Amino acid sequence: MSNCEKVQSPDYSKLDWKIRKLQRKLARSQKDSKKRNKTWVKIAKLHNQIADKRKDFLHKLSTKIISNNQVIVLEDLNVSEMVKNRKLSRVISLQGWREFRNLCEPKSEKFHRDFRIIDRWQPTSQICSCCGFRWGKIDLSVPSILFLNCGSEQDIDENASKNIEMVGMGHRHDLK
Ligand SMILES: [Zn+2]
Repeated sequence: MSNCEKVQSPDYSKLDWKIRKLQRKLARSQKDSKKRNKTWVKIAKLHNQIADKRKDFLHKLSTKIISNNQVIVLEDLNVSEMVKNRKLSRVISLQGWREFRNLCEPKSEKFHRDFRIIDRWQPTSQICSCCGFRWGKIDLSVPSILFLNCGSEQDIDENASKNIEMVGMGHRHDLK
C-alpha cells in the first residue's frame, strides 16, 4: 500500500498441495468407482476450505482499508496475462484479487468512500515515484531499486503503489 504497509495473505499452500495430490489420485482411479467418488468429495471439501479462508481474510482486509481511508485506488492488473506464467498462475489464482475488488466496491459505497480503479496500461512499476523518471520494464522479482538519478531506494511494490495513488488522484509525473 502507498503508506508502505504490506499485507501477508494466508498460506494456502498446504491445502493446495493436498488438492494436487488428490487430483493425481483421481486421475489414476477407475471411473465410477466408490473410491473415486470419495476422492472427489475430499477435493471439493478442500476447495471450500480455501475459499472460506480467503473470504474471511479478504473481508477483514477490505473492511479495514475502507474504514481507514477516504479514497481507495486499485490497479486493474492484467491477471489473465499474468496467469499465463505457470509458476505464478496457481499462486495468483489463490489470492482472489477480483474477489477483493468485488468486496471493496460495495463497502466503499456503503461508507461513502471514493473508490477508483486505474487501468492496467499505466506503467506503475516502470516509473520512479520519487522523481518521475521512467526506467522501463524491470524484472518484478527484484525486491528493490536504488535509483541513482534521485538517490532514492524504492521497494518495487511500494513504488508501484505510490504511483497508483498518484495516478488515481489525478497527479502525474512529468515523464523524463
Ligand atoms: Zn526518483
